[in-house]
Amino acid sequence: MVNIEEMAVFCKKKGFVYPSGEIYGGLNGFFDYGPLGVELKKNIKSNWWKSHVQQRDDVAGIDGSIVTNPKTWVASGHVENFIDVMVSCTKCNVRFRADQLIEEVLDISIEGAPLEEIQKQLAKVKCTKCKGDLGEAAAFHTMFETNVGPVKTKKSLAYLRPETAQLIFNNFKLVVDNARLKLPFGIAQMGKAFRNEISPRNFLFRCREFEQMEMEYFINPNDKKCPYLAEVKTDSFQVLTATMQKKKQKEKMMKLSDALKKKVFKSEWHAYWLATEMNWFVSLGCNSKNFRLRQHTPDEKAHYSEDCWDLEYKFPWGYKEIQGIADRGTFDLDQHIKHSKKNLTLFDEVAKKKIVPVVIAEPSLGVDRSFLVFMYEAYNDDKKRGNVVLNLHPKLAPVKVGVFPLVNKVGDKAMKVYADLKKEFVCAYDKGGSVGRRYARADEQGVPYCVTVDFDSGVTIRDRDSTKQIRVGESELLEVLRGLLAGSLKFEKAGKLVK
Ligand SMILES: [Zn+2]
Repeated sequence: MVNIEEMAVFCKKKGFVYPSGEIYGGLNGFFDYGPLGVELKKNIKSNWWKSHVQQRDDVAGIDGSIVTNPKTWVASGHVENFIDVMVSCTKCNVRFRADQLIEEVLDISIEGAPLEEIQKQLAKVKCTKCKGDLGEAAAFHTMFETNVGPVKTKKSLAYLRPETAQLIFNNFKLVVDNARLKLPFGIAQMGKAFRNEISPRNFLFRCREFEQMEMEYFINPNDKKCPYLAEVKTDSFQVLTATMQKKKQKEKMMKLSDALKKKVFKSEWHAYWLATEMNWFVSLGCNSKNFRLRQHTPDEKAHYSEDCWDLEYKFPWGYKEIQGIADRGTFDLDQHIKHSKKNLTLFDEVAKKKIVPVVIAEPSLGVDRSFLVFMYEAYNDDKKRGNVVLNLHPKLAPVKVGVFPLVNKVGDKAMKVYADLKKEFVCAYDKGGSVGRRYARADEQGVPYCVTVDFDSGVTIRDRDSTKQIRVGESELLEVLRGLLAGSLKFEKAGKLVK
């Protein structure tokens, strides 16, 4: 596995991701996506939206603004509590984010824990640079501030949203009415969020500007049955419970139905969403063995949360969170009811009374972190071929089809093939260098299929992963590529295998 620096170099070289504003030296914690990166990122997002919103009857979407009424962030608790704890060394003055330092030295996860808990753990830690004593821990507010309007006053103060979730809560009633949602249902959103991190690190993993794909899934507190459980019951996942962490045990494979029986998961709904989120990665070509579901320990968990799990990926620097899936109870709606004085309750037809719906699961996934996961899952330094092959799932691949004229003289025929295909797929036309060089270039960009045009009738399609080639007629090409990219057609059966 390449380390994160090597991955960053590869992403820049191939046009996936650049440091933001590099001609001025970049800006720590900000990145720009290049020509291939923007396509991959779009594909990740559109696949998430399709499976989480468009293909479901129980989920509606919104797209909230980045700057909203700041009272939202008072109600949500962000104005008061959205802090990181900073600590510096009394000897060498190096500054650390306290939870990251604790994690590094003591190997316990403490992100988001209360200040007292962090202080307690910090007492056991010395400076990692010089072994000096650490000073007082201090809280630091991590919301980005801005001003609305021409005059900068206390009243014009607003924030760049630190998460997308709250826009779902403050639009709750409108969405429920407009989409005629009946419990259980979800409201989803994706978009940018901002956190003024003390020390952004690990490339796309911890940025100051990032994108989220989030959903709040609401249920009736009097009816906790999940009607979709059968879809995921027999699936198995690597699981690490809070108790196992206390006993210093490693994660182990568990079947979902067994885990539910043993009360590893507190609710059917929570288990369902954990499985569904994990399966989303698997459906896009990821190996489930590189992921685990880790339960929050009592120290990490928010006071109002019944249960919280993270979906973690095995990065070169260890298992790290890519998605939090919390049971948030009625905390957020209660807060907005209290602060806005608006009625955000729903009427329970069975119990004949008003209820505040429970957020049984809040799957909250980082787009940029997912991007990194898909890059790691796809990255394959193929020594035999002598180049990197990005085995990206065809649904995610930035470029679906490469079109190569074998020699310049067949340029017209190749151009016609290219012009037809690009109406339907993102295609790249490449006539530079030997065909071998062009295949290598396409492999590194993760192009699943390359079409070579020569003097004979028909064309050759080459499969990125196996390097096998088939011959098909020009008139069938579009249909064959459709089938291959959708996964409904087997490569060897799609044409005449070239020996
Ligand atoms: Zn020091």
